[in-house]
Amino acid sequence: MDLQLRLESVHDGILVSGTVIVSIHGECSRCLDPIDYDLPVDVQELFMFDASPVGDEDIEDEQVYEVRDEEIDLEPMLRDAVLTQLPFQPVCRADCPGLCAQCGARLEDDPDHHHEVLDPRWSALEGLLNSADQGSDTSDQTTETREER
Ligand SMILES: [Zn+2]
Ligand SMILES: [Zn+2]
Repeated sequence: MDLQLRLESVHDGILVSGTVIVSIHGECSRCLDPIDYDLPVDVQELFMFDASPVGDEDIEDEQVYEVRDEEIDLEPMLRDAVLTQLPFQPVCRADCPGLCAQCGARLEDDPDHHHEVLDPRWSALEGLLNSADQGSDTSDQTTETREER
């Protein structure tokens, strides 16, 4: 983690602002390639001297950071900042072709990759034809009885 932070003493506390470079290790949500990159995360938070001000309800729902014992704990703030700016579905690159839906092959390695797409209706038909063939061996008797009728 590369911290480029500026601390400013303000009336209510200490304003921390700057950029944190976070090393992201993950995998591409499309092709599952490992991803390693640096994500710059913009940070701006106020660490308050007194985190429980009376009569100020505006900040009630917000995460409040506090100056404790004249020290500030950057870690929870950085964690929150990173989590909110982290991509939900990271990809190795914006136009990553991902994996083949049929066999899972990497389309990036094999752009012309394709399958003979077998329509499920055809395979059902194929099954019918197969059973018809099997039935034809014993169908002579049936045809004869039909003719007699
Ligand atoms: Zn990818
Ligand atoms: Zn495939």
